[in-house]
Amino acid sequence: MPIVARHRPIEFYDTPYRLWVDSFTELDTRYLVDLAEHGGNGRCSCPDFCFRLAKEMPPEGGAPRRPIRCKHIRLARDYVLTQIILRVDVRDTIETQT
Ligand SMILES: [Zn+2]
Repeated sequence: MPIVARHRPIEFYDTPYRLWVDSFTELDTRYLVDLAEHGGNGRCSCPDFCFRLAKEMPPEGGAPRRPIRCKHIRLARDYVLTQIILRVDVRDTIETQT
């Protein structure tokens, strides 16, 4: 009988920008994504981010020149944006300045 990974939905942790995202490969493993870290680039507790991508971050801190994100950060950003879109009232208008 093949082992089927149990994928839980993405869950918010303690703030609207900290979320748990399941591992794609490790059963019963999930990573904590913090979307606000690195100047809004995000940070993840997965091995790909910690051992590979984090080395590309600017040593002086702040946001990198281009996004440096693992698949968990990308999923979490997409999830948060979806939650925002679902909560925006379609009757809301945005005032534009010309
Ligand atoms: Zn990750």
